[in-house]
Amino acid sequence: MSSVLISGGAGFLGSHLSDLLLAEGHDVLCADNCVTGRMQNIAHLDGNAKFSFLNQDVSKPFSVDRSLDYVLHMASPASPPDFKRIPFETMTAGSYGTHNMLAIAHEKSARFFLSSTSEIYGDPPPEHHPQVESYSGNVNVLGTRSVYDEAKRYAETVTMTYQREYQLETRIVRIFNTYGPRMRPDDGRVVTNFVCQALRDEPITLHGDGSQTRSFCFVSDLVDGIYRLIKSDEPLPVNIGNPGEFTMRELAEMILKITGSSSEIITIPQPFADDPRQRKPDITKARNVLGWEPTIDLETGLTKTIEYIRGEIGA
Ligand code: UDP
Repeated sequence: MSSVLISGGAGFLGSHLSDLLLAEGHDVLCADNCVTGRMQNIAHLDGNAKFSFLNQDVSKPFSVDRSLDYVLHMASPASPPDFKRIPFETMTAGSYGTHNMLAIAHEKSARFFLSSTSEIYGDPPPEHHPQVESYSGNVNVLGTRSVYDEAKRYAETVTMTYQREYQLETRIVRIFNTYGPRMRPDDGRVVTNFVCQALRDEPITLHGDGSQTRSFCFVSDLVDGIYRLIKSDEPLPVNIGNPGEFTMRELAEMILKITGSSSEIITIPQPFADDPRQRKPDITKARNVLGWEPTIDLETGLTKTIEYIRGEIGA
């Protein structure tokens, strides 16, 4: 049993991770300012004596009046439309936010965990497909996505520097596309967009020709991998994601099939510069080091996600 500070604990991933931590017997202090998180994601924890909430922008320095064993930095906007809508919040969550959370971990002699991303690989060329942790990435520093990509790259750098300079225990996960209940229906990402469109019988908006690929991991698999990594001895970044790779057109077709929607699929120009053409994790390291691999296939995970979004939007 231990004491955990988690930033972004009211977010999609952070709230699921908080649930897992509580189920494993930990005390959880959640710091969030709900820029993209939502109090409804943690409403079920009201009255749980092991859970507390701190309304805090973690990109501003703050202190915590309790001993801590783990400091987990999960707070960040994570959808491309949000990178355009709130670029400064996105940059500061990854940069100042990481500094502030590291400073707390250092002060408390706690283990630090960074939620990083496959976006640090940018738009990988075919010879770096699937993406291995040793690939150093292809990010356009001047593009609108780079507010996220470069902040997360910097976050990894500052985390490794604390590890080297202060011998701080640190863990870094690189999260690939993840989906599931508690995503904001209006977050603008592909799964939520397509599901909302299908449930409302509106056109499904494929960006470009829809041949770009992503690999989607269901949230319960993801938090299981994260929890194993936090407890492991691995000091270097580990990819966590589902290697099943789908084109966006295949994703649209699967969502149409599951929902039984009469929506048509339309193509519109790609609104986001530097959109990665293909993305798929190499999870050899997670398999070997963590004994982890995903268990939920896309159709099963989408069915659960669709039920959640149906409830949210009343369709
Ligand atoms: N996409 C799409 N239609 C939409 C939303 C997204 O075709 O309504 C595409 C998007 O251009 C990208 C892929 O789906 O190629 C995944 O986008 P998402 O925003 O979910 O996340 P990303 O993996 O790009 O961070």
